[in-house]
Amino acid sequence: MAVVAKPQSKNKRVAEFLASPRKMLINGQWVASASGKTFAAINPATGEELVQVAEGDKADIDKAVAAARKAFDSGPWRKMRPNERTKLLWKLSELVLANADALAEIESLDNGKPFTIARAVDVAGTAEQFQYMAGWATKIDGRTMTLSTPGTFGYTLREPVGVCGQIIPWNFPLMMAAWKLAPALAAGNCVILKPAEQTPLSALMLGELIMEAGFPAGVVNIVPGYGETAGAALSGHKDVNKVAFTGSTEVGKIIMKAASGNLKKVTLELGGKAPNVVFSDADLGAATAGAAMAIFFNQGQVCCAGSRLYVEKKSFDTVVGGLCDAAKNMKIAPGMDPTCQIGPLVSDEQLTRVAGFVERGKKAGATALVGGEPVGGGGYFYKPTVLTNVKHDMEVVRDEIFGPVVVASPFDDLDELARQANDTPYGLSAGIWTSDIKKAHSLAGKLQAGTVWINCYNVFDPHLPFGGYKESGLGREMGPEVMEHYTQVKAVVVGGM
Ligand code: ADP
Repeated sequence: MAVVAKPQSKNKRVAEFLASPRKMLINGQWVASASGKTFAAINPATGEELVQVAEGDKADIDKAVAAARKAFDSGPWRKMRPNERTKLLWKLSELVLANADALAEIESLDNGKPFTIARAVDVAGTAEQFQYMAGWATKIDGRTMTLSTPGTFGYTLREPVGVCGQIIPWNFPLMMAAWKLAPALAAGNCVILKPAEQTPLSALMLGELIMEAGFPAGVVNIVPGYGETAGAALSGHKDVNKVAFTGSTEVGKIIMKAASGNLKKVTLELGGKAPNVVFSDADLGAATAGAAMAIFFNQGQVCCAGSRLYVEKKSFDTVVGGLCDAAKNMKIAPGMDPTCQIGPLVSDEQLTRVAGFVERGKKAGATALVGGEPVGGGGYFYKPTVLTNVKHDMEVVRDEIFGPVVVASPFDDLDELARQANDTPYGLSAGIWTSDIKKAHSLAGKLQAGTVWINCYNVFDPHLPFGGYKESGLGREMGPEVMEHYTQVKAVVVGGM
């Protein structure tokens, strides 16, 4: 029998968590899957197994939906006052912070990202999300209207949607769970969360904290499993009122079809191929560092990554040269190494995918100024890569690579630049670097993207709506906007006045 290599964690919670197979959370209980099946959580820095995880499929989704339905229709959740939901969400944020090291370590081991980033960005962002949404629970209200029909008046009630299925990806496993759970719970919904099969662990640890915080049984159910089985069962389930998904555009379209059976409300946060535009009048040092962060953050596995860099012609060599230096100097290491700046990609499959894109790009005429190949040896590491000599119709320029690979092109005409930047089915985000405020706002108005960053990149805030134009999505996450998607409006008319 193969000897399973377990990481020797110094963190007691992590060591205990990885010591025995992880179960799923249904109706407030940690249970094995109905089939008894499990699957392996893999450490992408080594390719070794971390722990076995219960593998949910249709039978488990059915149980979880029934539990959520009961909690929504007749459980204590229904009667809970808004300020009690606030307190629970705030308590959860405190538990997230109290367990920040354990959550960050699990995230780093399961996803590959640097521990330091997991702690400073993923865990901190998760706590902030619960805190911001804790405030929303007490701020949901309706309107009153004077109606034209004599003897009547009207008002609206803003009510929760009901049972929500939430399907999340592997690039920010914990933070995506928080972006989905926090608004749903603030508005009074019940949830079935399906983490990605590549990274189920941090959502399961969050489930432990949800139970510790005191959420009633059935309000949050967490069912790990594969997309084609558990994910499909959830998105097609007749007793689920809403499905929220983050992942590829391709799967987003499948989910939308599956949801049409009972016309679930659907929100989708999908892929991107973001243009990041640097003008010569920008602070070029900041723009170069920003361009590096825009593509290499999280190993480039970010839907809003600045993956198409456009630099004004006269500054092209300076900016791209600086970007290549940054790429060369990044420390590639396992995420738990405190000096790590670039960890492994999430999986062998993702490594093969990214390498395939770059190989085909090179064959089509692109030049890899730096990187352009896997690191080799153990683990799923890929070198930070800068491609030039690219043409607008090449696959590497048009398709989402979802790895540390940027394509860089020079431009000299603003209108042509805007045309090229928008000539993509995607529209998630964009970046602009310039010291000319008129130019910045003018281009921001022209770009078809749900988020435009000016002289910054990857700035997120729970108060900012995030989502896509065109095939990058439907609806918005975060900000007041997300509350529209987790509530529905009832108009009440009173007669006989
Ligand atoms: P990637 O291709 O990068 O792995 P996906 O969009 O396939 O990203 O995965 C995002 C999430 O969608 C994961 O939780 C995955 O299990 C789920 N998923 C994949 N296929 C389906 C499907 N057919 N129905 C529902 N969920 C799915």
